[in-house]
Amino acid sequence: MRPTGRSCGTLGIPMKILLLGSGGREHALAWKIAASPLVTKLWCAPGNPGIAREAECVALDVADHASVIAFCEREKVELVVVGPETPLAAGIVDDLGQVGIKAFGPRKQAARLEGSKGFTKDLCTEFNIPTGAYGRFNSAADALSYVHKQGAPIVVKADGLAAGKGVVVAMTLPEAEAAIAMMFDGAFGAAGAEVVIEEYLEGREISFFALCDGETAIPLASAQDHKRVFDHDKGPNTGGMGAYSPTPFVTQEIHDAIMAKIILPTVRGMKARGTPFSGVLYAGVMLTAEGPKLFEYNVRFGDPECQVLMLRMMSDIVPALLAAYDGELKHFNLRWFDEPALTVVMAAKGYPGDYSKGTSIGGLDDAAKIEGVEIFHAGTSVKDGAVLANGGRVLNICAIGKTVVEARQRAYAAIDRIAWPDGFCRRDIGWQAVEYEQAQT
Ligand code: AMP
Repeated sequence: MRPTGRSCGTLGIPMKILLLGSGGREHALAWKIAASPLVTKLWCAPGNPGIAREAECVALDVADHASVIAFCEREKVELVVVGPETPLAAGIVDDLGQVGIKAFGPRKQAARLEGSKGFTKDLCTEFNIPTGAYGRFNSAADALSYVHKQGAPIVVKADGLAAGKGVVVAMTLPEAEAAIAMMFDGAFGAAGAEVVIEEYLEGREISFFALCDGETAIPLASAQDHKRVFDHDKGPNTGGMGAYSPTPFVTQEIHDAIMAKIILPTVRGMKARGTPFSGVLYAGVMLTAEGPKLFEYNVRFGDPECQVLMLRMMSDIVPALLAAYDGELKHFNLRWFDEPALTVVMAAKGYPGDYSKGTSIGGLDDAAKIEGVEIFHAGTSVKDGAVLANGGRVLNICAIGKTVVEARQRAYAAIDRIAWPDGFCRRDIGWQAVEYEQAQT
């Protein structure tokens, strides 16, 4: 399956786009962007072998903003789409803007919503956004005395970007003490120089995505990811082992509450502070007994949630990205397929610990033939025509179906056709929604 409308320039507006990133999220974005009739040329830097089917991959160092700018000027790129958070936090959107190149994503000051947990907590306080009680600390002694006053369970977070590893949900006081010691001992470098201690929020965890243009936010869709490495949510946290969208737990009422109490006050607050947020706002929300509460923001699409959102998005994504940049979202509407989508991550054995690279993967073409299935590459390389594993999370096996059960059957049927003895996946992705669907019938 692929989106329709692949012909180039049919609306008469040639559009050259550069996408930054190299994971499964960027493969899904490349797949969706390449399907736009507005796009005449798509590059991806640095990309991966799966992305190479959709875009021309270029070996640019994304951290070297001058070389990205030089490429854009040489190739007359009209829009840069930034996938991951690191270049956003480093101010790539600001630097491209300085030379008049449009880029989708927040500027550096607005990217602090992900880059500093303390920043986000203070914003919540200032604009009355529901979140857990918290304290910000620069010393272990002060952090410890706060934790002793609050008791466990409690959550200890490195303030800065820590590749998804800077959060410890401490169920006991000794765990919280150990987490504080680890963070102030420099386990996360500068990211842990400040620590945020947050109230433990009890409830169901969901992800909520909104597209923002600095002033207006339009909801994208809800999703649920699976952070733990093993079935039944056991084992250490990972970057994400699978996801599905929409989640049945975000009812219309909850959806409206998240927009009204969390997303819109954030957009208004960022604008009032003079640092308007433009791009994708990804809210980590706990559905508590007192209503939805924010526990974190990310300033880009989630990985692997992006993969299921792209499968479900019916509209052309390119006008939406441009409208977000141009401040035109108030005139905008996105259409979605009602069908749920699900993605299962295939990872190298050992992930999220040590794993080997270079193991051979077969059967991908056969797997992709199953109806409703789309396979995105997250960490692969190609040697002599053979696909090899080249990372921890390696493939995203995605499927859309009439129900979550059908999407899941399709995804696992595809996985069963993939010959990769050195890889593994969870077998229970979507379990909450499957239980919910079965209870309804
Ligand atoms: P993060 O790395 O920020 O995505 O956080 C990792 C995980 O920690 C989240 O997916 C949540 O499951 C959990 N978490 C973060 N903050 C809280 C909180 N205040 N209460 C309970 N769980 C939390």
